[in-house]
Amino acid sequence: MIRDQRSQGRHAILAEIRKAGAIARVDLAQRTGLSQATVTAITAELMAAGLIEESPALVAAGDGRRGRPRVGLQLRGAAHLVAGAKVADRTISAAIVDFAGKLLGEATRPLPGKGLEAEALAAELTVATAAAASAAGCSMADISGLGVALAGIVDAGAGIARWSPALATRDTPFRAVMEAAAGLPCFIDNDANLVAMAELYFGEGKGIEDFLVVTVESGVGLGIVLGGRVYRGTRGSGAEFGHMKVQIDGALCRCGQRGCLEAYIADYALLREAALRPGYRAGDPQEDMAALLAQARAGEPMAASIVARAERIFAMGLANLVNIFDPQLIILSGELAQHDYLYDAKVIAMVAGQTVQAGTPPPEIVVHRWDDLMWARGAAAYAIEGLAARALDSLGEDAA
Ligand SMILES: [Zn+2]
Repeated sequence: MIRDQRSQGRHAILAEIRKAGAIARVDLAQRTGLSQATVTAITAELMAAGLIEESPALVAAGDGRRGRPRVGLQLRGAAHLVAGAKVADRTISAAIVDFAGKLLGEATRPLPGKGLEAEALAAELTVATAAAASAAGCSMADISGLGVALAGIVDAGAGIARWSPALATRDTPFRAVMEAAAGLPCFIDNDANLVAMAELYFGEGKGIEDFLVVTVESGVGLGIVLGGRVYRGTRGSGAEFGHMKVQIDGALCRCGQRGCLEAYIADYALLREAALRPGYRAGDPQEDMAALLAQARAGEPMAASIVARAERIFAMGLANLVNIFDPQLIILSGELAQHDYLYDAKVIAMVAGQTVQAGTPPPEIVVHRWDDLMWARGAAAYAIEGLAARALDSLGEDAA
């Protein structure tokens, strides 16, 4: 067998095992289209390399009706300890997981501010990762790799942060800076991609081939999973759902363009509208936002109309996504506490009303609340993928 086929087979098998949790060899052959003999040879190779192991419990094969339960294969947790970290507006959250994704320790530390120099941010990330390692009962020397989730535009393949609110500079080779600071192989990506990866590995997207993850924080993010993989575009700048245009010559967005979705639903956009009211006095944005939402709930007409427009625009954006991707599932994901109104059953019903009628029900939309530590676990999952790919490549051309 030529090397590329062999290597592709290894990647495909490891990916199927990761997706399934535990899977019988007969099902690996069926799902990858590889012969039973090739599956046997490659899984033996992966076991010898310490990447997978037999699962302690038998698993049902195929549809569960044919044949006896089989020995399952699973990722070998002890193969590596892996770290992931999420840079949020005011904090860094870090998590340590084993190679199978099991959470072993976590830590959250305050971040001195936004727009840091790369070296300063890398130093903060290293401190947070070391704190999580200590919580997991290990040290930095035990960690095999670190994944980092950054807001903004990230070229994951090149390891370059094109633009991020966390960094003072553009086109920053942040992966290299991070590797120098932490002394580990590092992997960086856009945070919405990594929350999609967290859903794929640990969350609502486990076992689902095509789904979308929409996050609303200070900006609006989108992660796209197609064929069981995160889709990253060609320049690392795809999936800019927040900057989908919803109005010609519309409201001014923070990106400098007009009519973007974010310019109608982000907190700053709602507060900008609220500030047009006579006698309005702006204070702390978080408090002002909470007050605006409370007024809307109490039926104050201007506040209610600002919030209702945000709901309608968000629903229209989601319907556009459904009409383009026809996904199995849309996950509205993140902490969500502040943006509850956007996740209302009323909004989800509006989406169904604007979806192309295919004669079948529209995709399910689920709400999945979680905190920054889940984003950190998504970053760790990315590091697991990166380390697994390196390990597979290092196996070379040996074996049949
Ligand atoms: Zn924009």
